[in-house]
Amino acid sequence: MNPIFDYVIVGGGSAGCVLANRLTADPRIRVCLIEAGKPDNTPLIHVPAGLIALVPTRIRNWAFHTTAQAGLNGRRLLQPRGKTLGGSSSINAMVYTRGHASDYDQWAALGNAGWSYQDVLPYFKKSEHNEAGADAFHGTGGLLNVAALRSPSAFDQIFIDSAIQAGFAFNPDFNGAQQEGVGQFQVTHRNGERCSTAKAFLQPAKSRANLTVITQAQATGIQFEGKRATGIEYRHQGHAKSVRARREVILCGGAIQSPHLLLLSGIGATDELASAGIPLRHHLPGVGKNLQDHLDFTFVFRCASQSLFGMSAGSVWRTFKGFWSYVKHRHGLLTTNFAEAGGFIRSDPSLTIPDMQLHFCIAMVVEHGKRLLRGEGYSLHVCQLRPQSRGTVSLQSTDPMVPPLIDPRYLSHEEDMTAMVSGYKATRRILDAPAFRQQARQELFTHEAQSDSEIRHLIRERAETIYHPVGTCKMGSDAMAVVDVNLKVHGIEALRVVDASVMPTLVGGNTNAPTIMIAEKAADLILQQFA
Ligand SMILES: Cc1cc2nc3c(=O)[nH]c(=O)nc-3n(C[C@H](O)[C@H](O)[C@H](O)COP(=O)(O)OP(=O)(O)OC[C@H]3O[C@@H](n4cnc5c(N)ncnc54)[C@H](O)[C@@H]3O)c2cc1C
Repeated sequence: MNPIFDYVIVGGGSAGCVLANRLTADPRIRVCLIEAGKPDNTPLIHVPAGLIALVPTRIRNWAFHTTAQAGLNGRRLLQPRGKTLGGSSSINAMVYTRGHASDYDQWAALGNAGWSYQDVLPYFKKSEHNEAGADAFHGTGGLLNVAALRSPSAFDQIFIDSAIQAGFAFNPDFNGAQQEGVGQFQVTHRNGERCSTAKAFLQPAKSRANLTVITQAQATGIQFEGKRATGIEYRHQGHAKSVRARREVILCGGAIQSPHLLLLSGIGATDELASAGIPLRHHLPGVGKNLQDHLDFTFVFRCASQSLFGMSAGSVWRTFKGFWSYVKHRHGLLTTNFAEAGGFIRSDPSLTIPDMQLHFCIAMVVEHGKRLLRGEGYSLHVCQLRPQSRGTVSLQSTDPMVPPLIDPRYLSHEEDMTAMVSGYKATRRILDAPAFRQQARQELFTHEAQSDSEIRHLIRERAETIYHPVGTCKMGSDAMAVVDVNLKVHGIEALRVVDASVMPTLVGGNTNAPTIMIAEKAADLILQQFA
């Protein structure tokens, strides 16, 4: 007889760890969490600067690639995703932003009652322990530690001064009353270490007798009785196994893999499943559609400075000193998340809310950090917050171990290119402001582009993802919606999706905190029904 639990959660990432904690807080509820990756037992995860080794490699990273992108001159982009406890929150850049209040009001306006900003704000606050203290927008006492960087680079101020000189306002809190402006990011750190959801939520729950966590276990299909989900099949140490769910199966595999598992299990568009040779369980054409992501353009400058990170004798020495400072006090260079500062700007003053996000990085970021350049330098990233382009996640094989096809169709909507050019020019104004100009520096890659067509060419040649895919199991009630406002899969009993894939539209900010919020709210919805 296969083991039976009340809830089986697939994926121990940002959302899965939150759910595992909240559901097992009730000792009557038995939960099994299945995670494909290894445990999060490498210092590269916990030492913040270790992300430099995680993002461009396969270490605790699925390291997917997109299909060739017509809008990007046929390039295939790296699409990193965490493959470990904590999921992408274990390999991400730890920036804590929530998006704009109006993003959630738009979700509600699309027909998703209960998901307006006023509805979701309590869940952001519930998860949070903000070291800056509680106020109308922030919580203390929550499990997710949110802090200022302990040892920020002095160069952050040069970015902030330049942005102010270019006409943008300073903002001390992007998650407060107003999102717009530039400043330093708060980060998900605790005591100078990464505070992933595995650390924040799973660690305190792991010893509970009612929680079973199985790592290196990849779910390969959902089991059903008719249209009711009853369990999960998974592969563990070379063996096919299964586990049963008395109450519900909850998918938390993220925006790439939750739709993949639904498709493999026969839930998707009838014609697509038929051509893949997968028996239809339920026709749900929206599965894997509506993929949205933040496309990002990076300006890179070489600049001799002791406050920047790089490849030089001085930098190696500073990193070595930083190592000791980290070991002894959890301070110094190794506490950096690289994307230390940034902001939200309007590339066109006639807009009512910011349409671009900036990430200022204290290193020269080229190809996700894969290419290490000689010397020190900095990068300024600009990404379009609400792209119109929509892509897909689809099957390339019926073998569950073969990744799905990921086609974000970046820049397939003409307005997105217009917005990116506008964002490029706004960022260029910051880079040309006196505070940056006073630094002796060399501009790499972008110095020759002047005309709009040259800028468009550069964007097609060089833009990358800033790692925020969402929307592939969107919440709603229209024909393309996959889950309802309670995150239950339409037409199927006892099956929910709880992760970044349920966002109907991409929020204007980083996506970890919003995903944690979704899981907090989902936990409440599930517990209300448990009784
Ligand atoms: C490199 C990078 C940098 C980022 N930087 C930031 C940032 O600074 N700030 C921010 O807010 N956001 C950032 N993000 C985005 C953010 O981390 C994600 O949006 C968020 O973590 C998504 O959470 P999720 O729960 O949807 O998926 P994930 O956290 O990716 O979790 C999915 C989990 O499911 C597991 N899984 C998948 N399929 C299966 C299966 N079949 N069986 C078993 N397990 C499975 C995966 O291994 C993974 O652990 C970044 C992301 C990346 C990759």
